[in-house]
Amino acid sequence: MDFTMTKEQIDIQKAAKEFAEGEFSDRAEEFDRDECFDEAIFKKAAELGFVGVFIKEEYGGPGMGILEHCLIQEEFAAIDAGISVAILSPVFGSEVVEAFGSEEQKKRYLPPLVKGESIMGSALTEPDAGSDLAGALSTTAVREGYEYIINGSKMFITNGDRANYLLCFIQTDPDHANRHKRHSMIMVETDREGFEASHLTGKLGIRASDTAELSFNNVKVPCENLIGKEGNGFAEAMHLFNLNRIGVAAQAVGIARSALEESIKHVKKRFAFGSPLSSFQATQFKIADMFTWIQAGKNLVYEAAWRVDHGTIDHKLIAAAKSFCGQMVVKCADMALQMHGGYGYLAEYKVQRLYRDAKITELYEGTTEIEKIIMARALLR
Ligand SMILES: Cc1cc2nc3c(=O)[nH]c(=O)nc-3n(C[C@H](O)[C@H](O)[C@H](O)COP(=O)(O)OP(=O)(O)OC[C@H]3O[C@@H](n4cnc5c(N)ncnc54)[C@H](O)[C@@H]3O)c2cc1C
Repeated sequence: MDFTMTKEQIDIQKAAKEFAEGEFSDRAEEFDRDECFDEAIFKKAAELGFVGVFIKEEYGGPGMGILEHCLIQEEFAAIDAGISVAILSPVFGSEVVEAFGSEEQKKRYLPPLVKGESIMGSALTEPDAGSDLAGALSTTAVREGYEYIINGSKMFITNGDRANYLLCFIQTDPDHANRHKRHSMIMVETDREGFEASHLTGKLGIRASDTAELSFNNVKVPCENLIGKEGNGFAEAMHLFNLNRIGVAAQAVGIARSALEESIKHVKKRFAFGSPLSSFQATQFKIADMFTWIQAGKNLVYEAAWRVDHGTIDHKLIAAAKSFCGQMVVKCADMALQMHGGYGYLAEYKVQRLYRDAKITELYEGTTEIEKIIMARALLR
């Protein structure tokens, strides 16, 4: 077994770290406070080749892997998780287009994403359908001639208010006996009549990222916007989740690493009872535990990503990486804040933002509970 990264991987990791430190570390607090983002940072990241690194060369990408994407995600999230979402999520859904789309669709949608000329998102969750997507979805697309007519709403959609097009998970055959054959993936351009997005404010964390509620009121799209086959939407959604879950786990590792770094700095300079906090064994155990958990999380992420890049989508391993890293970062951020004492409770200390940002990794792309269900089902089958 060889744990050495390639030169290309080391270079991209270093470049991502330098980009994050140079381009957005001093703006993270502002974006978090004001719930905003500067699109110029996204454009620059795309120009430098950080966006959609897993997209194949024939569709405009550099044809690297999910592992390289995770390395970038981790470095960006170590500086700010919300900004990492704002920069890297505009290709969210490209995985489905690349795996299931027609040649014409791949050539139409993918190259502008890599160049940062367009923004995409994936709209699956609805106000009443989150974990139980297949069973509770209610948005419908009805075929009329050469068009689909879409009605319904979506909730919590990343880039909903900034995307040019959204990959939407919609019911096309609500009465099909098999609940996993009722849905399809349909691309919806956001300038279509009847489409509306409302930006959601007041999120706990990742506040630089755009999250929106969507409504579809008789939105007409041509049937050629169907991605893959009609009725195959659930399988396509699972493919999307599998790849994106590894990215979320990498994001968790980045936040946790930052929590450890902030804690080490703080406990060395803060004194209590005449000694630095770092001299107390209770502090040392926290630092040692955080290091161990981060390393374990990193190993899960890198292995899951490496396997995908070598042709195996191991959904059990991916679910393990996502659920472990989500819980791990919440624990690490809590310990980091505890070691900061009252100062950790203040917005001017980064650890407060890390504590708030950490939680999202247990929620989106499948909650921790759903990941455990996936693993248990596979193990107990
Ligand atoms: C900031 C943000 C960005 C997001 N971006 C996107 C996006 O771009 N696209 C998109 O489609 N969605 C997005 N989501 C939605 C996200 O994926 C869902 O919130 C998530 O899947 C959980 O669904 P829910 O909120 O409806 O919770 P629910 O499904 O209502 O779950 C509530 C709780 O019940 C638990 N639960 C549910 N079922 C079971 C069960 N069978 N056994 C045990 N426990 C269970 C869950 O684990 C959870 O703890 C985003 C969410 C947020 C907050």
